[in-house]
Amino acid sequence: MPQRRESDCIFCKIVAGEIPATMEHRDEHVVAVADLNPQAPVHLLVLPVEHYADVGAIAAEGRDDVAAALLRAAAMLGLRHGGDGGFRLVVNTGTHGGQTVGHAHVHVLAGRPMRWPPG
Ligand code: AMP
Ligand code: ZN
Repeated sequence: MPQRRESDCIFCKIVAGEIPATMEHRDEHVVAVADLNPQAPVHLLVLPVEHYADVGAIAAEGRDDVAAALLRAAAMLGLRHGGDGGFRLVVNTGTHGGQTVGHAHVHVLAGRPMRWPPG
């Protein structure tokens, strides 16, 4: 079980298997699941197994291993699912960043052209 866990965090519950999710990847540091409300034909979320409120907390605590595992898994999934079309990684952080779940995560979006700049 994870060392750090928030009792009312939906992503901690997904990591623990207490909320059903379509699991795409799992390793020592991260899990990847299908987003419940997909915004693209491929929409996955990569989450650290341990609870960090956001990527700022991962950086502030010096968890370069967790940061690397998040980026590595997200990029591997993007390569696998995006094919020649490529993919987009998104990390919404804080209120202005549009973060709605307070457990760090990377969105992996693919399967359609993405607009720029994002809203
Ligand atoms: P963000 O707005 O960047 O914090 O992203 C949170 C994401 O979590 C949203 O895209 C939601 O659709 C997704 N989400 C919320 N609850 C679940 C869940 N139980 N399983 C999978 N994805 C979820
Ligand atoms: Zn959590």
